[in-house]
Amino acid sequence: MPDRATVKQAIRTAENQLRQQVDAPRLEAEILLAHTLGKPRTWLIAWSDNPLDSEQLQRYAALVEQRLRGAPVAHLTAQREFWSLPLTITPDTLIPRPETELLVEIAVGLYPAGEGITVADLGCGSGAIALAIASERQHWSILATDRSHEALEIARHNANTLHIENIRFHQGDWFDALPEEIRVDILVSNPPYIPEDDPHLKQGDLRFEPRPALASGSDGLDAIRQIVAKAKDYLKPGGCLLLEHGYN
Ligand code: GLN
Repeated sequence: MPDRATVKQAIRTAENQLRQQVDAPRLEAEILLAHTLGKPRTWLIAWSDNPLDSEQLQRYAALVEQRLRGAPVAHLTAQREFWSLPLTITPDTLIPRPETELLVEIAVGLYPAGEGITVADLGCGSGAIALAIASERQHWSILATDRSHEALEIARHNANTLHIENIRFHQGDWFDALPEEIRVDILVSNPPYIPEDDPHLKQGDLRFEPRPALASGSDGLDAIRQIVAKAKDYLKPGGCLLLEHGYN
């Protein structure tokens, strides 16, 4: 990174550095500069000829350097958008993936607007699924669980920041976290489902994410077996279990 550059020039330099290693170098160069400057990405376009000072350029270069060493963008910015909600993300949580929005879409489509129901999101991580459903259906009552105390703290923080109030958080392993007498209309989960020895775990962002959020036994099905075995005990009659699973 040169000592003097405009917004546009700095982005171009970073994009060229990132090109060999990442799929979306331009987008990532913009996200990292927006984060460095504490501005939205649209600002970069409006002010593309704005000069950057050397302190800004140094901080930007340091982020690009960390990205080149593999650190996920969501960890460098501590943020990821899910269902248009800006979520705080740390290395204690899975980085929410866009494909997981499908679970939200299906869940909110299952019941007509107006009907008040209860939903549990098992293994909520950053709270992505629970928060998205809660934001769409403010009269639904949502329970969100996770085994990780650290992840639940992030999920709680996200709920507070987004002023989402119809969620209660419970710590514990799968159903152990739920109050014993509770029966829900929808159980939703994006459980870990990668086999422990899958080579993907050694690639890309996955290397930096919590292993228990990703991998589950030698065939990847341990968590799913546990959830499926007990789901009927916690579902109301006619209730629905929604699970994400891998392509294979
Ligand atoms: N429910 C969270 C998500 O989809 C976390 C899932 C997990 O940690 N496996 O992002």
